[in-house]
Amino acid sequence: MDEVFTGSFTQQLPLPEAAIEEAVEVMRSGRLHRYNLQPGEAGATGALEQAFAAQMGAKYCLAVASGGQAMILSLRAAGVQPGDRVLSNAFTLAPVPGAIAAVGAKPIFVETSSDLTIDLQDLARKAGQARFLLLSHMRGHICDMDQLMAICAKAGITVIEDCAHTMGAQWRGRWSGRDGLAGCYSTQTYKHMNSGEGGLILSDDAEFMARAILMSGSYMLYDRHPAGPGPDVYDGITGQMPNMSCRMDHLRAAILLPQLARLDADCAAWTERYRGVEAGLRGAPGISLITRPEAERFVGSSIQFLLKDWCADQIRQYLSACLARGVELKWFGAPQPQAFTSAYSHWLYADPPILPQTDRVLAGLVDMRLPLSFDLKDCAMIARILKQEAGRITDAAQR
Ligand SMILES: *Cc1c(COP(=O)(O)O)cnc(C)c1O
Repeated sequence: MDEVFTGSFTQQLPLPEAAIEEAVEVMRSGRLHRYNLQPGEAGATGALEQAFAAQMGAKYCLAVASGGQAMILSLRAAGVQPGDRVLSNAFTLAPVPGAIAAVGAKPIFVETSSDLTIDLQDLARKAGQARFLLLSHMRGHICDMDQLMAICAKAGITVIEDCAHTMGAQWRGRWSGRDGLAGCYSTQTYKHMNSGEGGLILSDDAEFMARAILMSGSYMLYDRHPAGPGPDVYDGITGQMPNMSCRMDHLRAAILLPQLARLDADCAAWTERYRGVEAGLRGAPGISLITRPEAERFVGSSIQFLLKDWCADQIRQYLSACLARGVELKWFGAPQPQAFTSAYSHWLYADPPILPQTDRVLAGLVDMRLPLSFDLKDCAMIARILKQEAGRITDAAQR
């Protein structure tokens, strides 16, 4: 009998008891709106912003309604205007080009290298075409940030980082999201902290942050942002920024604060699971693992591998054979978008060009979530199933 895995790939851990208690306290108070404060009180939202800024060594932090909203506000606060072009990864998730479109700009997709990061040669080639880069650390893969920042500095490109999968990760000892003008994070259920929906922006730039705070819907209450810049920074810009109403509330912030305290431990636990699956997959027939650079301290909340030179039918067969044994994989090479998974060629509003190198990578790219509800034994079993089924497909191909 083939072993079958029975865990759920979408089941996160329950929230810590402290988060539940703090949430109940906020609900008992009735004061859920972030500006509904008593004199001298920072409130959970302000406290979360202060704590995240301190943990990441940033001057300023703003909590918003989603990771997508964090990117939209950041692009506009950075000065992107309607009609502008914004460079971005071709391999990313739909809300990234969506944020570019939301500010009336148009993405220029940059090719993907075989390690799943933005192709720096293609970026250098296209650098003259835009003044902004929305860099997505998609699925937690961090490119050579030193080289990327050098390319962008030389070309006068402002960098905004999408850290939805790199909250708590580092490049050469620097927290992910701290190299560009701003880092954008998501606290949506499937990311590294879970408030259902939510987002955070970090920056050291006072004017940028003042613009983002005004846009988030601060009205004239921007002095109730303990992790925001001083009141003088707002002079002359209050009437310039539209109110786009995407604040975070105290309830979500209360849920997030205790999770922030254990972020490092959670990240280490994810990476332990990733390393477990990776070790089990070594030598699996037809499976190429992604080499992780020394300088990258990644968070292994998901794992990707390449089925190089497999035809689409073999990949489909593989996915269904694994699924039949309880292992749920996503495929970025599918011709049609499915569930959360889509590819750049599906984002028709952005007039995507054909990117041959990205197409070659995506054609064999398979992706799997690793929720913390899995233990190391689960990870070993998952790897055994993935390896065995790969063997069956490659054996059949040889006969
Ligand atoms: C989830 C995600 C986002 C956006 O986060 P939301 O909070 O869902 O809006 C952005 N980028 C990537 C790569 C993501 O996976």
